Amino acid sequence: MVFGEGDPRAPLMFIGEGPGAEEDKTGRPFVGQAGQLLDEMIFAMGFERSQVYIANVVKCRPPGNRDPREDEIVACSAYLDRQIELIAPRVIVTLGKPAAHRLTGSTRPMGALRGRWTSYRGTQLMPIFHPAYLLRTPKAKREVWEDLKQVMRKLETKQQNS
Ligand code: URA
Repeated sequence: MVFGEGDPRAPLMFIGEGPGAEEDKTGRPFVGQAGQLLDEMIFAMGFERSQVYIANVVKCRPPGNRDPREDEIVACSAYLDRQIELIAPRVIVTLGKPAAHRLTGSTRPMGALRGRWTSYRGTQLMPIFHPAYLLRTPKAKREVWEDLKQVMRKLETKQQNS
């Protein structure tokens, strides 16, 4: 099982889809190739990986890297909700479609969801493309950077007000 890791008081929480092969081996989220890119994104935002919290919608690796099934998402749902509750981040960033769909309740394509603020149980939420998608489609990095800049701005304003 890959539960999640990071600062339990992190202002920023990333939620991906589910563990891949490397994550399954190590028990840690986002440690494979997509994870390296996520690390770079976190760093570019001015954070260390240890200052944010990283979790997934499903905690166990779907065989063969298939998308998590609805029953698997439901089985992990209470764990994810409790993680969000306990960490109580200022902003949640979802990575890719399964996480965006799970937390927005929408079934719209990523192109329509990314870059637009929504909220999950009172927490500001920004859906962005999954880093694995960026590895296949590097030109989408520009959009992700625009979305992450919105997140950085939100974190700055919130910090000033609290
Ligand atoms: N992709 C995910 O969505 N989560 C991980 O932990 C690793 C890769």
